[in-house]
Amino acid sequence: MKHYRNGGSTAARQLACPGWRKLADAMPESPTSSFAEEGTILHFCMENILEDGWEIDELDVITTAGISLKLDDDHREKLTMALEAWDEFCKEHKIVDYKCEITYELDEDTGGTCDIIAWSNDTVWVVDWKFGQGIKVSAPGSAQGMFYLMCAMFEEPELFEGKYLGVAIIQPIPSRDVETLDIWELDDNELDNFKRKYLQANGDNLAAGKHCQFCPAAPTCPQKTGQAQAALIADPEALATLAGNLTAALELKDWIKQVETFCHEQLEAGAQVQGYKLVQKRATRKWSDAEAVELALRKSRKIKLAEFTKSTLLTPPQLEKVFKKKDLDMSVVSDYIEKVSSGTTVATADDPREEITLNANVLRGAIDRLS
Ligand code: SF4
Repeated sequence: MKHYRNGGSTAARQLACPGWRKLADAMPESPTSSFAEEGTILHFCMENILEDGWEIDELDVITTAGISLKLDDDHREKLTMALEAWDEFCKEHKIVDYKCEITYELDEDTGGTCDIIAWSNDTVWVVDWKFGQGIKVSAPGSAQGMFYLMCAMFEEPELFEGKYLGVAIIQPIPSRDVETLDIWELDDNELDNFKRKYLQANGDNLAAGKHCQFCPAAPTCPQKTGQAQAALIADPEALATLAGNLTAALELKDWIKQVETFCHEQLEAGAQVQGYKLVQKRATRKWSDAEAVELALRKSRKIKLAEFTKSTLLTPPQLEKVFKKKDLDMSVVSDYIEKVSSGTTVATADDPREEITLNANVLRGAIDRLS
């Protein structure tokens, strides 16, 4: 599948902050997240449920585009809710036909793959599956929806002749009491306005806002840096309302996380970030050979079985407590204790923990990911 420089998922950001693309071009490509991979798999499932009659209850391990996911009950519930909302949508809006995963291109750099283009006798709809649970996405005003309508209208003008336009978002969120289907019927003027503004949204202008979330340029963006500095020097009494502070804080929170993540990724990729280094996270003790520990404890006969087991063997710190209480010598099992860190974290250069150096294989893997 071709990846366009200007696509549907970045249309809102392009409109609000045209300069983001230039900044993002200077950044390394971010590794995909588990949420993005889950979305890819669930989109693939919906395509095959609609096109090839896949049965949701029979879906287990799904593989596509080099990624695999073993579906659980939550995934199957989301797929069932999405399918029910799709059926409801088709019935209510008298859909006569549709196409799945269709790629529309406006020019070499601009285009994308629309989840579904569907039509009735009087309306053409862009339908978008959303499988994220954090942010509820609305259909009214959807830049992504208008982007796909614009590209589809460019490539298949005959499909749109004399038709109204619509955007439908199907977002199943099992844990929240929200509607799965959201629709927006728009008129030609709204699409024309979008098209005009989108095609003029070029240049270096930067403007921060809600669209900064997920922006790959955020860690080095001067707008965000300025926002952060302004927040640091602001006099609380001068701030107009608490609501204003909260909005800024929430936006900054996202940005701070993006900076930390980017810095960690860069250090793991072998880059130098002045004043920072990679260190191991706090190591926790665990048994290197649980069977041998159990045998040693059984042999010692100084501690009863029920005292060193729950349903599983106690961890080293838990067992140490028992030994201390009984005034026993831990040396019978201390050879089996190993310290294993759960990964790396970023610390300031004067942190007392030892700096870790990445071995050649890890570095090579990180460089491969970036190239
Ligand atoms: S972080 Fe926000 S202001 Fe900066 S480039 Fe991205 S969208 Fe624009």
